[in-house]
Amino acid sequence: MDQMLPDEIGAIRDSIRRFMEQEIIPNMDAYEERGELPRDLIKRAGDAGFYGCTFPEEIGGSDMGYLAAAIIIEEIARMDVRYGGFNQNGGNCPACIFLAGTDEQIQKYVPDLLAGNTVGMMALTEAGGGSDAAGAMKTFARREGDVYKLNGSKMWATLGDECDVGILLAKTDPEAGARGVTAFIVEPKKYPGYSAQPIDVGLSKSFRTCAVFLDDFVVPVENRLGEEGEGFKIIMRALQGGRAVIGAKALGIAIGCFEDAVKYANERIIKGQPIGHYQMIQAQIAEMAVEIEASRALVYQAAQAMDEELPTNRLAAIAKFHASKTAKFCADTAQQIFGGYGLSTEYRISRYKKYADLMFTGEGTANVQKILIAEDALGYKVADRHHGKTGLRSMGRKG
Ligand SMILES: Cc1cc2nc3c(=O)[nH]c(=O)nc-3n(C[C@H](O)[C@H](O)[C@H](O)COP(=O)(O)OP(=O)(O)OC[C@H]3O[C@@H](n4cnc5c(N)ncnc54)[C@H](O)[C@@H]3O)c2cc1C
Repeated sequence: MDQMLPDEIGAIRDSIRRFMEQEIIPNMDAYEERGELPRDLIKRAGDAGFYGCTFPEEIGGSDMGYLAAAIIIEEIARMDVRYGGFNQNGGNCPACIFLAGTDEQIQKYVPDLLAGNTVGMMALTEAGGGSDAAGAMKTFARREGDVYKLNGSKMWATLGDECDVGILLAKTDPEAGARGVTAFIVEPKKYPGYSAQPIDVGLSKSFRTCAVFLDDFVVPVENRLGEEGEGFKIIMRALQGGRAVIGAKALGIAIGCFEDAVKYANERIIKGQPIGHYQMIQAQIAEMAVEIEASRALVYQAAQAMDEELPTNRLAAIAKFHASKTAKFCADTAQQIFGGYGLSTEYRISRYKKYADLMFTGEGTANVQKILIAEDALGYKVADRHHGKTGLRSMGRKG
């Protein structure tokens, strides 16, 4: 399909593949065994320009666009899904700051995140439920002179224990629903009142997700992002970009499973011939290939729509939902093709299956995507009703 895409896409794919082969794959096992965040690999990926695709060159980005970002995310997931640097350093954390930050805030935080000098986080979800993030939000920010003091807790904040910079959402007006949510740029290592506890979900030990506890956690007023009450609008706008490319992670997982299954089907001899010669295995391979190509078309379409500043909420929800289903289908099917060995940690299929499950949850669950798609189809709520009306800076290539 790359032949149908802009010329530079092939070069981007080659360069991320080379980077994964030379830098990530030879080193990732050792970091996982130690449970250590690979800061030097995060830095090397930053130096290579992989985090900055959707950001302008003046602040250290490459302005290659969302399609380029999707290709990078796809290849990382395909080659070693455990490497989670892109989401933290090239995703929602710098996006929120870029969308709504002052020039000083952007200059202070975004270039270092894109260069991999610092590590980012985004803490929206709370224990009361991620699908109703604003309604369930109990974390409260109280202003005291030149600082806010934050109290409460966050769930599932990836790299909550390691981050240098994060976006954290808290209520400044608990009575105002989503309009009472404010976004803050937090620096957990610099100010008191913050602690984080990793949660073991059987995924990467290097890129851990955490529960975060805030006890009069100090955030200077100058680190408020936008005005009080604008936080939900900012995070939803950032997540829109995130969802336009998160399907690429599911796509990469699906392709990784497919490629492993094809290789195994050609190598595994049963009754004197490779199992790939059996029609039922061929049917499984064919079904995976079809779902992958359909997902690829949807994911690239959503990313290209972001680049063109077209409405993307509906397209991104469809792409993420379909690609997530494909990831799960391919992980399950590949595991069947591997037989008993598909359950063994000796093969990466068992690990990919776990990441495929996550795709139905992270950055909006499958049900949430389906609600958006169905309500739009039924005429109850137009999915792209806010398009072009947020008043935030644009992240599309035409912006
Ligand atoms: C490994 C991992 C990493 C994560 N990283 C981050 C991060 O860095 N930052 C962050 O802020 N969050 C993060 N999350 C949180 C993630 O975004 C949430 O888990 C997700 O939004 C779902 O929230 P929940 O788990 O509370 O599920 P819930 O919202 O409790 O949903 C439970 C179930 O109910 C369904 N449901 C909910 N509402 C409806 C409805 N109206 N109709 C039908 N069904 C419904 C959901 O689809 C789901 O199946 C991470 C999660 C995981 C597992």
